[in-house]
Amino acid sequence: MSEHPLFRKILIANRGEIALRILRACHDLGVRAVVAYSDVDRESLPVRLADEAVCIGPAQAARSYNNIPAIISAALITGCDAIHPGYGFLAENPYLAEVCAQVGVTFIGPRPEVIELMGNKAEARKMMKRAGLPIVPGSDGPLENLAAARQIARRIGYPLLVKAVAGGGGRGMRVVRDEGDLVRALPLAQAEAEAAFGNGEVYLERYIARPRHVEVQILADHFGNVLAVGERDCSIQRRHQKLVEEAPAPNLPRKTRDTLLGAAVKGAKAARYTNAGTLEFLVDPGGNAYFMEMNTRIQVEHPVTEMTTGIDLVAWQIRIAAGQRLTLDQRDREPRGHAIECRITAEDATNDFAPSVGTVEMYVAPGGPGVRVDSHLYAGYSVPPYYDSLLGKIIAWGRDREEATARMERALTETVITGVPQTVSFLRSIVAGDEFRAATYDTGFIPRLVARQIQASGPISDDDEVVAET
Ligand code: ADP
Ligand code: ADP
Ligand code: MG
Repeated sequence: MSEHPLFRKILIANRGEIALRILRACHDLGVRAVVAYSDVDRESLPVRLADEAVCIGPAQAARSYNNIPAIISAALITGCDAIHPGYGFLAENPYLAEVCAQVGVTFIGPRPEVIELMGNKAEARKMMKRAGLPIVPGSDGPLENLAAARQIARRIGYPLLVKAVAGGGGRGMRVVRDEGDLVRALPLAQAEAEAAFGNGEVYLERYIARPRHVEVQILADHFGNVLAVGERDCSIQRRHQKLVEEAPAPNLPRKTRDTLLGAAVKGAKAARYTNAGTLEFLVDPGGNAYFMEMNTRIQVEHPVTEMTTGIDLVAWQIRIAAGQRLTLDQRDREPRGHAIECRITAEDATNDFAPSVGTVEMYVAPGGPGVRVDSHLYAGYSVPPYYDSLLGKIIAWGRDREEATARMERALTETVITGVPQTVSFLRSIVAGDEFRAATYDTGFIPRLVARQIQASGPISDDDEVVAET
């Protein structure tokens, strides 16, 4: 199948579980890989399992994982001819992609222009609207001033969401209920966006009540072939960050699913998109779907798609970047069974999800039929305070949703992580609950669950064990 050879050596410009995931794809493809690491990650699992590793700077991400000159030098010094950016850090930075092209290293991702376009959420909305996709009703672009904002807000109707054009990772969003709210929130939102993303532009979207977050995984090669590989439901979120995801989306009418997959292909084609990407949609209780944003990288929750399709998405990212043609067909895209992913984070669920650090004392990973673990943890691993709190992901597959759920509950029960407060018990309380079982949930699931848990236990009570962490 390979008219083109794959790469000589790939630089993995990331850390943690995703660095390990990319390393595994490289080894499955027979490609050597170099892991770029910061000082505090010297002992990490991806570094130990890499063919080579190169230190790119101190712990602070700005001086290591987000440092383009350091990443490029690491690639050139070690003779890499491609860079995989993973997610987060520089994954959606068009300049890295541009510099890669200039120095003759392949960036494993879409073209810099496409990264830049989708990185501006207001521009992405405009582009997708032109392409004929339904978008969340909102402003046509960034807000010019308060007077204009008021006028647009009246036209769309309250409640509204003020969103940062350059936002991401669940940050840069504020709900406004009325005009008074808007007047107060706008300058704050702009200042926050400027501080957090270096771009103070914000736009307005109607705040959709009780929506589901359903997203579509895309693969696109350099020959114009675009595949919608399947959808994922990622409605179980805390502070706009995903905790649990599943594929296929449960209780999604066939018609809505077809609309979403069709819209995603149309949008990706209009953008002349290449490599793996995800179009995120909101689905309202009436089944209406609206495009929200496009992520131009591999997604944290990609394994649920892999488990239900058998497609190795990271391997395909590498093949596509090497110039190979997509050779998957419709049959590959029909989901088989059901998969659920739980994200385990270093957060104390008994203490308002305060970030936790420390050294892992004991680590027992779950296993058995249908269970996959993507994690860089090991006993003795020190969780550094500098980065994202993700410790790993458990993915459970079953012939149907019921079996996948039962296996997930079992897997979470088997998991032991001591020494660092984490979210395993909290995740189990999600999966074991009636609302999850019934799959009738929306993005308000976690606030409702937390309220029930607090009500059930009171501020100090033995029942705290339900969400107690080791
Ligand atoms: P996914 O959509 O893949 O689930 P997330 O929204 O959870 O992605 O983000 C994946 C990673 O990327 C997280 O580490 C998140 O903090 C980071 N991230 C995404 N976008 C941004 C951004 N604009 N600024 C900073 N970090 C971001
Ligand atoms: P990010 O770039 O941080 O991922 P998104 O635009 O994808 O931001 O939004 C993150 C989450 O916020 C969504 O998954 C959804 O739960 C919620 N959200 C975003 N826009 C809206 C909206 N217009 N109405 C209701 N909820 C929204
Ligand atoms: Mg998003």
